[in-house]
Order: sequence, then structure tokens, then C-alpha cells
Amino acid sequence: MNIIFLGPPGAGKGTQAKILEDTYGMVQLSTGDMLRAEVAAGSDLGRKAKAVMEAGGLVSDDLVIGIISGRIDQDDCKTGFMLDGFPRTVPQAEALDRMLAQKGYALDHVVELQVDDEALVRRITGRFTCGDCGEGYHDEFKKPAKEGVCDKCGGSNFKRRADDNEETVRSRLAAYHAQTAPIVGHYGRQGLVRTVDGNVAIDRVTGQMTEILG
Ligand code: ADP
Ligand code: ADP
Ligand code: ZN
Repeated sequence: MNIIFLGPPGAGKGTQAKILEDTYGMVQLSTGDMLRAEVAAGSDLGRKAKAVMEAGGLVSDDLVIGIISGRIDQDDCKTGFMLDGFPRTVPQAEALDRMLAQKGYALDHVVELQVDDEALVRRITGRFTCGDCGEGYHDEFKKPAKEGVCDKCGGSNFKRRADDNEETVRSRLAAYHAQTAPIVGHYGRQGLVRTVDGNVAIDRVTGQMTEILG
């Protein structure tokens, strides 16, 4: 099964993708994670993306289309993938449609996670992750069982993203509404869109997901 997670920054795309990876054997493909890895590595691509990401804008279509195309060619995608954070513009969606047709893949669902803007600001400003295993946490909504210790790997090397501050969040939300939301129409015309209420607790969102995915 191949799916796209659509939804504004902080909607819970990464959280749900990580939960569903194990159940469905689909791999999470996050362009945000890929870009942050390029920035950390100081690659050419990372240098091009860094300032745009810090300002909460969108990296150029060509750049992310190239990254995702290379990633989908890897073997682990054969059992299914979840696109998280891509496509983010209509041209990216059109390029993805062509790319999948060429590679012999089809999309099963486009899951749109709907969350109110005010809730998103709280979710993003409270977000942190384990730097060792990538598990996601939140100051209020998903604290580690033992403070300062990752539930999953026992590590204590937590990280916050440079762009997870209130000011940048507003730019990212504006970019979402202007450039990404129109994708819902693009996939709506293909009959692929399934809507999920993302305002409820994490496990209740997962419940809606499993109803859709079967
Ligand atoms: P979130 O899901 O919290 O919005 P991401 O990790 O998906 O954040 O993305 C972080 C940043 O990386 C974005 O604000 C943008 O600058 C860049 N980015 C990620 N994916 C894309 C994409 N498909 N197209 C353009 N820019 C992207
Ligand atoms: P996205 O990948 O869409 O940007 P994340 O999955 O990283 O969003 O979630 C953003 C933050 O909100 C994280 O700190 C996460 O722990 C928290 N979170 C995710 N889903 C929910 C939810 N349903 N209710 C409350 N907090 C949530
Ligand atoms: Zn960990």
C-alpha cells in the first residue's frame, strides 16, 4: 500500500507514520527529515535548503522531486511507502503522478489530517525528538514516561528543530494554506482523498487511520 499524508505542519503526520510503519510494513518517506539530514551533512543540497527552511518557506520543487525520486527507487519501498511532507505544491503532485506511473507504482489513499491552526502552534512549539532513535515527543501531549529518558531507546539526547518557533510556524502555516492545500483538489479529482479529524488524541487519530487503511 502506498499513501500520502497531507496536513499542515504539526498535524501529526510523522507521529502517525511512525506508528503505522510497524503495523502495515510501509516505510515513512519524510522530505523534511531528508532535507534536515542534508543540512546536517553540509552537502550542496543542504546549503541550498538551509536558509529557506529556517525562514519557514518551501524549498524548490526540483530539489525535493529529485530527492524523493531517488528514495522511491530503493528496495524498501517495494512493500509500500507513506509520503510525509511531499508533495507540497501542485507541481510536486503532478511530478509525483508522472514519477509513480514511470516506476510502476500507484497511490492507494491520500489521507488529509485536519487540525485547527491554533492547536498547530501549540503542537509545534512543544515538539522535540530523540536524537538517537528519532522517536517524537511533546512537552504536554506526549511526555517520555521518565523525564529526560527516551521510552523507546533509553537515550537522553533530545533535540528541537530550529524552525519550531512561533514566528516561523506562522510562515509555514501560510505556505501550507497558499501552496499545499490546493493539492487536496488535485487528488480529490482522482477520488483518492480520505479526511481524518486530527484534533483528537494520538490514539484516536490512529483509530481513524486504521479504519481507512483496513
Ligand atoms: P512539518 O511537517 O513540521 O511542516 P517538515 O519536516 O515536513 O515539517 O518540513 C520542514 C521544512 O522542510 C519545510 O518548512 C520546508 O522548508 C522544507 N520542506 C520539506 N518538504 C518539502 C517539500 N516537499 N517541498 C518544499 N519544501 C519542503
Ligand atoms: P507533523 O509531522 O505533521 O509536522 P508531528 O507528528 O511531528 O507533526 O506532531 C507535532 C507535535 O504534536 C509532536 O510533538 C507530537 O508529539 C504532537 N502530536 C502529534 N499528534 C498529536 C495529537 N493527536 N494530539 C496532541 N499532540 C500530538
Ligand atoms: Zn530514543
